[in-house]
Amino acid sequence: MRAMLLHETRPAEDSPLRLEEVLTPSPAAGQIRVRVSCCAVCHTDLHVVEGELQLPKVPVVPGHQIVGIVDALGEGVQRFKVGDRVGIPWLHSTDGKCEYCKRGLENLCHNARFTGYHVDGGYAEFTCVGEEFAYAIPAMFSDEHAAPLLCAGIIGYRSYRLSGVRGGDRLGLYGFGASAHLVIQFARHLGCEVYVFTRTPAHRELATKLGAAWVGTAEETPPQQLDGAIIFAPAGGLVPLALRVLRKGATLALAGITMSPIPPLDYSLLYQERMLRSVGNSTRQDAREFLQLAGEVPLQTEVQSFALAQANDALLALKHSEIRGAAVLEVGK
Ligand SMILES: [Zn+2]
Ligand SMILES: [Zn+2]
Repeated sequence: MRAMLLHETRPAEDSPLRLEEVLTPSPAAGQIRVRVSCCAVCHTDLHVVEGELQLPKVPVVPGHQIVGIVDALGEGVQRFKVGDRVGIPWLHSTDGKCEYCKRGLENLCHNARFTGYHVDGGYAEFTCVGEEFAYAIPAMFSDEHAAPLLCAGIIGYRSYRLSGVRGGDRLGLYGFGASAHLVIQFARHLGCEVYVFTRTPAHRELATKLGAAWVGTAEETPPQQLDGAIIFAPAGGLVPLALRVLRKGATLALAGITMSPIPPLDYSLLYQERMLRSVGNSTRQDAREFLQLAGEVPLQTEVQSFALAQANDALLALKHSEIRGAAVLEVGK
């Protein structure tokens, strides 16, 4: 099969991924093999190829927002059959028995394995996953429009949950990329007013189009205090700016897998029971709940398509905030 392989981490400008012909994987017991149709490109992929996350496996095929068709079954598979359409997200497997799995926090599992990181992912024509970690996709979504739901959407949903915001509340979003443009849609569907903080002109325009109650920069002060906020941009400098506009007792959720250092915080920004918390991966329940909600809204995903061989170009465009919505690799076309 054809796959984009990462042998050595390098800046996206140096085209770190190489198109190669490799062996098509075979599904192990309990696994399905998926013929990849599309794979959306996530900021985490950029962190992987550029070496901001240490690589547990080299070479590795990145990509963890995969949509495709089941084409082979490992021994004992029952939930899916050949021909079913499925999605594969970041959480590839857990041990099911550590203290976190037992507490219902499998996203924090000691032995979690992640797609396109510990195991080869979706920048390839085929990939394998345990049937318990793949999901049916609501029928109204095309493959390319479903792909960004699988990380941007699921992480956005968990971040929204952890922000403590409920219908009728005012929610702040810092950064308006792949994840935030989905959160604004379901948050509005659930009755929230959404305040968007971004400098990028295309992102400001999209936020307005998607019904933001207010759009400004992080240094600006919205007309009212917010009931919760999510930072998607990996910029620690946003933390004090975001705490400054939250009401007492509100939560600031940090959705990123990495962030530049957070500057010293004046205690008054946090006092009065404001909370600061990160979001670590997501659970299978998050994925199931979110995909159902995505179909109910229904979410509109803005996608920009690239060929598999153009994965380096997609990563570079993402690095420079040049993607409107989400970048998607068209693999099986
Ligand atoms: Zn575990
Ligand atoms: Zn991701």
